[in-house]
Amino acid sequence: MAITVIRELDESPSDGLGQGEMLSVKAVHAVPDDTDGHPGEETLCGKPTADMERLRYQPASADTSWLPPGMIPLKCRWCTDALQPLYASDPH
Ligand SMILES: [Zn+2]
Repeated sequence: MAITVIRELDESPSDGLGQGEMLSVKAVHAVPDDTDGHPGEETLCGKPTADMERLRYQPASADTSWLPPGMIPLKCRWCTDALQPLYASDPH
């Protein structure tokens, strides 16, 4: 199953940490693609994808993390849990 990796942005006002206008990434989720190859309307953990931003990243194989390097600390653990059995069933 193909997935699209998207990020959920935290657009709440800065709480004085000096981040300026930079949006921080709240979490990185996985979205199962529909039969046309477009990302679905919900992430694997059930969040709507409408306000999220697609990342141009496709996991190369089951041996590769589904996350871009550097975003692993932000991974959604529910999406990760949902992906594990899918990858585990891949004989590679
Ligand atoms: Zn998620």
